[in-house]
This record gives sequence, C-alpha cells and structure tokens, in this order.
Amino acid sequence: MTTSATLPNADGFFGEFGGQYVPEPLKPILNELAAAFEKYRNDPEFIREYNYYLKQFSGRETPVYLCANLTEKLGGAKIYLKREDLNHLGAHKVNNTIGQILLAKRMGKKKIIAETGAGQHGVATAATAALMGMECTIYMGAVDVERQKLNVFRMQMMGATVVAAQSGQRTLKEAVDEALAAWVQDAENTFYLLGSAVGPHPYPAIVREFQSVVGREARRQMLESEGRLPDYCIACVGGGSNAIGLFTEFVGDAGVKLVGVEPAGRGLEYGQHAASLCLGGPGVMHGFNSYMLKDDQGEPAEVYSISAGLDYPSVGPEHAYLKDAGRAQYVYASDKEATDAFFMLSRMEGIIPALESSHALAHAMKLAPTLSKDDIILVNLSGRGDKDVAQIEAMVADGSVVPPCIIR
Ligand SMILES: *Cc1c(COP(=O)(O)O)cnc(C)c1O
Repeated sequence: MTTSATLPNADGFFGEFGGQYVPEPLKPILNELAAAFEKYRNDPEFIREYNYYLKQFSGRETPVYLCANLTEKLGGAKIYLKREDLNHLGAHKVNNTIGQILLAKRMGKKKIIAETGAGQHGVATAATAALMGMECTIYMGAVDVERQKLNVFRMQMMGATVVAAQSGQRTLKEAVDEALAAWVQDAENTFYLLGSAVGPHPYPAIVREFQSVVGREARRQMLESEGRLPDYCIACVGGGSNAIGLFTEFVGDAGVKLVGVEPAGRGLEYGQHAASLCLGGPGVMHGFNSYMLKDDQGEPAEVYSISAGLDYPSVGPEHAYLKDAGRAQYVYASDKEATDAFFMLSRMEGIIPALESSHALAHAMKLAPTLSKDDIILVNLSGRGDKDVAQIEAMVADGSVVPPCIIR
C-alpha cells in the first residue's frame, strides 16, 4: 500500500510545510506513532484486515458515476462523480477511521480519543470504535455540541463519551487543544484518531495513506470506463483529506489537472470565508506549518462557511506544498454557488450532495461549459447531503437561500 509521493521527509516536511511544532512531551508519543505506521503500512495482514472492513463495513468499492443529464445540460466536458457519499455513514471519513483504529489495536491501545467540529468525524470515529470494541471519547467545542445535538446523540448511541470543550471560542480549535492535552495525560493507553490531513507529523502522511483508496479506485475505474485518465480531478478542501486521497494517485500523471476548491463563504470581499490557501499566509497552528488565515494579532482567524465541515483556518501541509510547486491549483466557490450546485445535482441526477462536496461540484459546473465534449472532469463527491437538508430547508423558508430557477 505505497503511494507515489516521496514526501514527507523523515522530519515530516513537505518542502517548508508540515513538521512537528509541538510541546516536548508530545514528541516521543508522535514518534512512537510514526514508527508503528511505518511498520504496518506495508504489512500484508494489516492491509488485508483494512481492506476487509472497507468492503464489509463500509461497502467499498464506491463507483465512479457519469452524470449524463448534468453533462448534457451544461453542454461541455463529461462530469463523473467518485461516489464517496455511498460509504457507510455517508462520507469518506470512515476510510481513515478504520485504518487508524486498526493501527491503534496493533499498538496495544485501549482508548480512542478524537476531535470533531460539525460532528461527522466524531460519528465515524464512534462507529468504528463500537465495531472494534474500543472505549471512545470525543472532544467537541461546547458551541458545536449545542449546534449539532443530533450528532452528539448519534455518538452517544454508539457508546462514545462526548466532552464539551469550554475554553476560548468553544469550537473546533479548543476541542483539538483539549484532546491533545488528554492524550499527553495517558499516552500509554490512548490513541488520538485525527480526522483530516492536518496536525503534526505523522498525521498528514497517515491520513493520506488511508484516504488514497479513493484515488486508487477512481484511477482504475476511469481507465475501465473511458480507457483514459480524466483531464481534471476536483475536490473540496477543508482540512484536505478527501482531496489528497484523490490527488495522490494522479500526482504523477502530468496530464491530469488537480483542483482543490475552498469555501468563499458570503464572498471573499466580506471577510467571511475559510479560503486558507487562496488568501492565507504561512503560519503554524495545531502543530504544523501551512497556509493559515490570521486575525490582527496573528492568531488563527475566525472563519465561516455555510458548510460546517469546511470552516478550518488552516489546511493540510501537502496542499500548501502542491500549491507552491504549481502541481495543484486552488480556487474557491461561494455559499451561493455551492447551494446552487446542491439543488442542481439533486434535481438533475437524483443525488443530494453534502454541502462540502457541493463546492467541488460548483467549480466543475463553472468549468464544464468552457471545455469540449471530449474532456473529462472527475469530481470527488465526498459525502451525501441528508445531514444538510434540514439546514437548507430552514434557509429556503427564511429566504436566505433561493433555489435556482430549474427547480422552482
Ligand atoms: C469532513 C468533510 C469534508 C472536509 O474534510 P476534508 O478533510 O477536507 O476532506 C468534506 N466533505 C465531507 C462530506 C465531510 O464530511
């Protein structure tokens, strides 16, 4: 299970990005994790077990699907979706939680801890911990606990304890801080299961490894259905795990353009967005160096997106590297463009996309009409939108979202 990339280097750097900017007590714990990962990533029995749960628990493989109706309507490039929405729990996150929890078992750990923002990673972690019979504690900002009551209840149903982080802004950043502190307290027995391609080394490499199944399948499936690779691979970027999972297997194919789509929120000019790569500058938070959005004091900025899974003020370090190397391009889509795409895919194809994935779709819908009918766009549909339907319904009711005319 090796990927094409030769990075990060031994110190966890992708060029100048990544690394391990953590307090001294965390370093031996991270190094123990890095050693275990190196030991098991190519171990046939580990890979067999990982593939078993991907298939039997999550229902992999997921198909690539040609959007014939949408393609015809837009009148340009063919649009394919990689259907990560069809995973158990409705998104790509389970690919990573299965891999990391198997690693935790190999390391002899008894307890799983994890951070969560909107709750999607918390739910995937709680489900996998229930499957593997592991004790599970999820750290969640107190504000998010209030906003995401249903996900809190889901986690509790599957046996997890949810701890509300009460410090600072009481959102994702504080949840990560408290989870890291709890980890240092009992590293002997505890495994920290991180949810995106962020954090100190070795997490970006671990998460990439376990998400690269997305790109590996998609590459083979495109060759099967079209006899060639796509011209574009497009994915939304929050922390960057679904995007890196797709990109990694195409990075060596010079003819395939890689495009990451960040949330422009209400519009970049209003300052309410989370476009870390498009508008941020170099900065360290949560133990790694990357592109980061900062406030006047140089602290992580408060960020915003209509989709709770994308509002993070930094981004996975490998994306920062791919941007500076010119190998991937990073663009943005606004709330309005994302909700238009959300309605459009639902109406044209009978598939309700997650609001996160709708950002990737929005860019594909802009791009397709500018290309020829021979061109192919592959969009990573990172998750399904059932979780977002109540929010969109309320926004339509109060007039803050207006469905595009096709569905009125
Ligand atoms: C969490 C989530 C994302 C954002 O996370 P990445 O690490 O950037 O992939 C995107 N889509 C869905 C459906 C999610 O649940």
